[in-house]
Amino acid sequence: MKIVVCVKQVPDIQSERTMEDGRLVRGRDDGLNELDENAVEAAVSLAERHSGTVTALTMGPAEAGDALRRALQMGADDAVHVLDDALAGADVGVTARVLAAAIRLVESDGPVDLVVTGMATMDSLTSMLPDALAVALALPALTLAAEVECDGATARITRTIGEHTEVLSAPLPVLLSVTDQANEPRIPNFASMKAARGRPVRTVGLADLGLDDVRPATAVLTATPRPPRAPGTIVTDTGDAGERLAAFLRGRGLA
Ligand SMILES: Cc1cc2nc3c(=O)[nH]c(=O)nc-3n(C[C@H](O)[C@H](O)[C@H](O)COP(=O)(O)OP(=O)(O)OC[C@H]3O[C@@H](n4cnc5c(N)ncnc54)[C@H](O)[C@@H]3O)c2cc1C
Repeated sequence: MKIVVCVKQVPDIQSERTMEDGRLVRGRDDGLNELDENAVEAAVSLAERHSGTVTALTMGPAEAGDALRRALQMGADDAVHVLDDALAGADVGVTARVLAAAIRLVESDGPVDLVVTGMATMDSLTSMLPDALAVALALPALTLAAEVECDGATARITRTIGEHTEVLSAPLPVLLSVTDQANEPRIPNFASMKAARGRPVRTVGLADLGLDDVRPATAVLTATPRPPRAPGTIVTDTGDAGERLAAFLRGRGLA
């Protein structure tokens, strides 16, 4: 079974975010998107069960190589890095087209059975990429999986949407997005880190993918920090809290 797992390098979730020219400033304390660890774990454990291979794929600047290294340490066999200055400012549509072209390139030595992604990135958080990528590849999408099963011919997922738990299946090839409920990502040990150093990382540009026009259809016009929230009003109950709450709501036209 041939599996591609998509991973993204993102700024540390704890760090303060700054924007410049409508873009998130990157490269200070970036690392593998936490939710993509679940994607890598799902891909590697499926490959282990089905004697498969895993290729980790990212589109991003040079620093995004760190995310690929982490995926290799977790057990991916090789990696592809799409690196091209023309991709700065790529939107979801462009990202999906580029990743789809890279997956086609991976397919030059055999068809891909599974494309696995995380459920969202911690920087853009659109959760749109998995569906957009499935459309670009003309694959069925089984998204937001909390459980994944695959018998080598069909993939089956369990997911919870609102009050309902759904079980879905699709024949391979298929795209899966997994949630943080899907598994417990492994922590690479010394041996796996050492092994990862010898695994190949192929860097490709747009020309290698046969793409030239990658202008995004959307543009960030402005990006300004949200103003700090005003402190709330605390009503301490000294016997008249109900009246004071009612007066507070009346004062705002809510009662
Ligand atoms: C107008 C515009 C300009 C933008 N400019 C920039 C920019 O300059 N630089 C920038 O980095 N982002 C930029 N973005 C954001 C970028 O388009 C998104 O990061 C990208 O479309 C993926 O969306 P997402 O991060 O919300 O992924 P989601 O849909 O939330 O992610 C789901 C999963 O998709 C996979 N995935 C997502 N992105 C990648 C990737 N790049 N490589 C491999 N797998 C991936 C991961 O498995 C992830 O868990 C811009 C967005 C817009 C709308």
